[in-house]
Amino acid sequence: MTASPAQVYAIRYARREALSRDHFYGLDPHDGSPMPMDYFIWAIVGDYRPIIVDAGFTPETAARRNRTLMNDPIEVLAGLGVQAADVEHVILTHLHFDHSGHLGSFPNATFWLQEKEMAFWTGRYASRRDIGRNAEPGDIAELVRLNYDHRVRFVDGDEAVNDYVHVWYVGGHTPGMQVVSAETPGGRVVLASDAAHYYETIEEDRPYSVLHCVPEMYRAYDRIMEIAGPTACVIPGHDPLVFDRYPAVNAELDGKAVEISVK
Ligand SMILES: [Zn+2]
Repeated sequence: MTASPAQVYAIRYARREALSRDHFYGLDPHDGSPMPMDYFIWAIVGDYRPIIVDAGFTPETAARRNRTLMNDPIEVLAGLGVQAADVEHVILTHLHFDHSGHLGSFPNATFWLQEKEMAFWTGRYASRRDIGRNAEPGDIAELVRLNYDHRVRFVDGDEAVNDYVHVWYVGGHTPGMQVVSAETPGGRVVLASDAAHYYETIEEDRPYSVLHCVPEMYRAYDRIMEIAGPTACVIPGHDPLVFDRYPAVNAELDGKAVEISVK
């Protein structure tokens, strides 16, 4: 398996206005100052067919959940030169609704997820209110169907997607939470997705308010920093600061896509 270092893009498709006190677990001292939440998918592009990390949510899900879409992430991908039909792998970091929506937009992809994650969302606790509200049953059902079409790649732990892209089990936020690393020309980038919602959650060691297991969340922070190694380049899953820290790909994609690079 040969491949070369990749370009990594963050694509922003939605924003939710929120307050800082909404985002932190337990008896947290954060106040009511604005702290919006942005929604992303990520693209890894090298000399192989494109790899997408997470699948966002659909307009139907947005309407049902009162979320406002800023754009269609599949169109933004096309603007980056990535045609959804060419995508070979879609890595699903976990199965919350904002990461599992556009499965049907990738007709030729294999969907990577941790066995534990699928077991959880098809298991006995998925229907309990404060758990089930975080998932879209239609997306979960679609993954069950895709599995029967041999299009789900179950992972138990850590695995290489190719020489330059790896998935790593971390747990914490959900039972089968995984993160993704990609080797770029400047070194390793870790797409933490919701294993670290904001820079502040991982840098200040303050878990996000929605989580499966507190000790595992802390362990996930440690593991992510180990995986990142010397670059310490960790991209959080929902932080608007990502678009402040990295440049727009071009004027047309301003506000929609940035290229992640090691600084
Ligand atoms: Zn999320």
